[in-house]
Amino acid sequence: MSAQDARGPNEHEEAVRGIRDKLYIDGAFVDAADGRTLDVLSPHDNALIATIAEGGVEDVDRAVAAAERAFPAWSEMAAADRGLLLLKLADAIEAHGDELAMLETIDTGHPIRDSRFIDVPRTAACFRYFGGMADKFQGSVVPVEAGFLNYVLRAPIGVVGQIVPWNFPLMFVSWNMGPALAAGNTVVMKPSEITPLSTLRVAELMSEVGFPNGVVNIVPGYGHTVGQRLAEHPRIGKIAFTGSTATGRRIVEASKGNLKRVQLELGGKGANIVFDDANIVAAVNGSAWAIFHNQGQACIAGSRLILHKRIADSFLEKFLTLTRSIKVGDPCELTTEMGPLTSTLHRDRVVDYIKVAKDQGGTILAGGMAPADPALAKGCYVLPTVVCAKPTDRVAQEEVFGPFVTVLTFESDEEALSIANATEYGLGAGLWTADLARAHKMARGLRGGICWINSYKRVNPGSPFGGVGKSGYGREMGFEAMHDYTEARSIWVNVDAQVPPFYKR
Ligand code: NAD
Repeated sequence: MSAQDARGPNEHEEAVRGIRDKLYIDGAFVDAADGRTLDVLSPHDNALIATIAEGGVEDVDRAVAAAERAFPAWSEMAAADRGLLLLKLADAIEAHGDELAMLETIDTGHPIRDSRFIDVPRTAACFRYFGGMADKFQGSVVPVEAGFLNYVLRAPIGVVGQIVPWNFPLMFVSWNMGPALAAGNTVVMKPSEITPLSTLRVAELMSEVGFPNGVVNIVPGYGHTVGQRLAEHPRIGKIAFTGSTATGRRIVEASKGNLKRVQLELGGKGANIVFDDANIVAAVNGSAWAIFHNQGQACIAGSRLILHKRIADSFLEKFLTLTRSIKVGDPCELTTEMGPLTSTLHRDRVVDYIKVAKDQGGTILAGGMAPADPALAKGCYVLPTVVCAKPTDRVAQEEVFGPFVTVLTFESDEEALSIANATEYGLGAGLWTADLARAHKMARGLRGGICWINSYKRVNPGSPFGGVGKSGYGREMGFEAMHDYTEARSIWVNVDAQVPPFYKR
């Protein structure tokens, strides 16, 4: 990629040329059974990028059958060999990094510098981590009574269904498939109907590096058809869902027929607390990253900025200056720091919250509108927005999922904790302070799955990721994910125990 213009004709054309526009079932790219298609639009200008096959119920059934056929050989393959395929895939993703990054940017609106230098490396790192994990994830031997050997196997579940949203499609392929495949499961994945392109390209790379047919199947399509069928499918053993809390509830409901396992990564309303002893320059920078990275479309976004009253004014002065200087524009330009939101529908939803904030007496301190630049008029753009509100206002309680941060203030540690914990969500939270004792105490008290101290939004394939309450249950990443993608099987062997007969005859 040239340093100046990421969308040189070659990068752009290569990515578009690379678009796979069909379903991926049993190792082949195929049309939908009923021939339906769906259009994929650019968030930059709403132009048509591609028309791809739209899966339906029959296609899900075909994909599940293929995954079932592939399961015995895949689960019995030496774990090291499964791992090797994941390692090869990580290499292939890096080798095709420029093209994948451009595809992701065109489809989602992620600034190209994020796609290239965050999404692609994180995707490769995640597949590599689970490639290495495959033959290191062990069962255990339980110290039971003398004469018996009791060992616990971690057995794969079987066919797993995975439903992912549109905010980080490339990365979520690796977060979901990495542990599932390393553990020996086979997969049917439904990417978001809005952003299926990078997932289909990864499927092609999987085929090229030698994944057997049927181990991975991709069925793009809508939630009420493909997603619903996956959730209710009687031959799927587990459904992993990443998306909104409302859809998560529907998944639980649909899954009950065969009592399949369910993992839910849902919404969030991240508290980002700045104490009066914090390094303000670091906190200002980190807090902007916490909310504005990926246009705020992140479940872990620091969408509530909770400031100590003593530093609130000086913090906000610097934070607003930084916010107003963020370069919003065409995501294919290397200098762009914030691109468009991913769809018109979602942009409208975010813009509605600006009115909601005003109606409840909130003050818009920055942004609150689309950029004036006529070159961006057709796209899904919203300026980075900062709103002052009360902790009970809707914009302090509901997930906006956009470049929209709600500012709240506090006077004591107890008050900060109580504001932070006063939502039904519990996913990511951050805090900024020089006092380590306070930091650890607050981290223990914050209700959620992840807490960053003097940082925000760090993720690593080894570190468990997930939430509590309305943010869902189950964990991605690390050993936790491997547990969640396996069943414990307890095997008892009578080695030389003298067991008295139960029935005297
Ligand atoms: P969404 O719930 O509308 O859609 C997510 C996925 O579910 C899509 O693939 C969609 O097609 C599918 N779907 C929709 N209705 C369905 C149904 N009835 N049955 C089965 N599948 C269905 O969410 P979204 O708007 O695409 O994504 C944004 C949400 O995702 C936000 O709430 C965000 O916080 C959440 N999210 C959570 C995490 C996490 O790890 N906790 C990560 C990213 C995003």
